[in-house]
Amino acid sequence: MLAIQVKNKVQTLLEVHNLKKHFPLQKGFIDNFLSKEKGFVRAVDDVSFFIKKGEVLGLVGESGCGKTTTGRLALRLLEPTSGDVLYKGSSIFSHSKKEMLKMRKKMQIIFQDPYASLSPRMAIGKAIAHPIVIHNKHNKAEVKEICLQIMEKVGLTPASFLYKKYPHQLSGGQRQRVVIARALVTNPEFVVADEPIAMADVAVRAMILELMVQLKEEFDLTYLFITHDLATCKYICDRVAIMYLGKIVEIGPLEEVFKNPIHPYTATLLEAVPVPDPKYRRTQPIPKGEIPSAINPPPGCRFHPRCPSAKAMCSTDEPDLREGSRVHWVACSL
Ligand code: SF4
Repeated sequence: MLAIQVKNKVQTLLEVHNLKKHFPLQKGFIDNFLSKEKGFVRAVDDVSFFIKKGEVLGLVGESGCGKTTTGRLALRLLEPTSGDVLYKGSSIFSHSKKEMLKMRKKMQIIFQDPYASLSPRMAIGKAIAHPIVIHNKHNKAEVKEICLQIMEKVGLTPASFLYKKYPHQLSGGQRQRVVIARALVTNPEFVVADEPIAMADVAVRAMILELMVQLKEEFDLTYLFITHDLATCKYICDRVAIMYLGKIVEIGPLEEVFKNPIHPYTATLLEAVPVPDPKYRRTQPIPKGEIPSAINPPPGCRFHPRCPSAKAMCSTDEPDLREGSRVHWVACSL
């Protein structure tokens, strides 16, 4: 992994090195009393990747695979158990609170659920302006002007009319635009978009994706695009990283991963994408069962209990991420 990062060092905006986040298990009083062993949820377990400036990296996987936790660690919204995140070559975990506040202007997040991430008692104009008010660089009139401008950019029009509305007075699509506006109001360079269309209706999804592509060009943004829907990546991502149970199992350029998925999990995810042809028949078997618990991940390859191609060695040997081609990496012993 490091090798490909070094080759692209000049253009690299974000580097994630061997990142781990293990949450201590919350036990009841009796369980705590009876057992001395501390359990952990291994949400993120040794994840490494990089994102070049201006690139969109899709982080894809089922619910509970650790993609949202990875996104939050990349912005230091969580402290890691171990590992590092370098932004323009410097570790974000080494910064003081004051330095981190300055950096937050350049690193923002679009949260998954716009309704939950907006205060029902705060007018949307105030919510969008909040990040610039924190940085305290502008007077009231300037803040309002910047806020109205960004509202126009994301399609919240007429901005002066919507400025004083509350979240419950807006449609789902408009609320999604509000959280996008709030993320962009500080003029960031890097944005973690955490399932930005998961809560939107199908018709609105296409519009939001189009808006994100357009804003990326206009604001020269770099995205970490988190999604459970691999098909969505086609419209926005340059590369994709597939996550399974806290680990990246395949990473590479979008076209290459779509045309030639090497990991059986990626192949089944692609197979699950609906095809608008009633005669189409699946060629890949669907993985058996549910994603296992991140408290006690299976030994060996974590995918082996569900893998249609599993061999005996898969239950004992844990595969590392290896070079499939120069830019396409995969963690599978076969
Ligand atoms: Fe399947 Fe084995 Fe490859 Fe894991 S290592 S994905 S179990 S074939």
